[in-house]
Amino acid sequence: MENFYHPLFADASFSYEESDIIIFGVPYDGTTSYKAGARRGPDAIREMTYNFETYLPRIDVDLSGLPVCDLGNLEIDCLPDLVIGQVEGTVRDIAADGKFPLLIGGEHSVTVGAVRALSPECYIVCDAHLDLRDEFGGSAYNHACVTRRVLDLGVEEIFIIGARSGTGEEYEFVRNNSKITIYSPEDIGIMGMDSVLDEIEGKISGKKTYLSIDADAIDCCLTPGLGTPEPFGLRPEDIRAIVDRFGPGCCGFDYVEVCPVDNGQTAAVAAKIIREFIGLKNKD
Ligand code: MN
Ligand code: MN
Repeated sequence: MENFYHPLFADASFSYEESDIIIFGVPYDGTTSYKAGARRGPDAIREMTYNFETYLPRIDVDLSGLPVCDLGNLEIDCLPDLVIGQVEGTVRDIAADGKFPLLIGGEHSVTVGAVRALSPECYIVCDAHLDLRDEFGGSAYNHACVTRRVLDLGVEEIFIIGARSGTGEEYEFVRNNSKITIYSPEDIGIMGMDSVLDEIEGKISGKKTYLSIDADAIDCCLTPGLGTPEPFGLRPEDIRAIVDRFGPGCCGFDYVEVCPVDNGQTAAVAAKIIREFIGLKNKD
């Protein structure tokens, strides 16, 4: 019999029961404010995974044969608070089975569900935006409010890497909140990424940590498939360094906000980073 193509993440064909890492997509972009399309992010990323070799030379891991399952895409509701509830329930189930949840967005708001389910002590996010609005467009669960909702959940420390966009009020909020540390691309240029990662590692030291990658942390001139593009950002290598450092120890991981309106660059970086994340997690 010939092989048949299926639209799941490449090298993630084990059953749920057999797998340690459980991937699922959340094709939601209901609160998108600028360019819609992040709902097609999960499948664009999956499609791109078939472009890559199964062997990752930098990590010296072959992904074929690793116990990873892709559940597919969540059949989602419409309103952001309902979708977040669906994500929360799914992540709760996966964690209760002793497995690791790997979420592919969709817009950033979906992260709130995963954080709610896992109750981490620390939250590391790569994002161009502070996402600290208390409300936007009539909803407290808008993609512009993600970090604020995470803070509300009682997370002790929040690190926003690549931040370069927010309102005056959001920046004022950061200045008055000792739990939030931001590293702009300029800060990282001055300190060096290694020093930034060392500083964060010192503060989280063994605490339960969630890692979220908003694709727009990367400079939109490099990866333009974004709902809210921002120039003067990070490079794909920076995201890789962050995932190298904090991926192996984190309790949950997501890659969100890929809006495949480009020539595939943004999905390619996302797919590669997610594959390296899986490789690193399995090396432990
Ligand atoms: Mn965001
Ligand atoms: Mn963003």
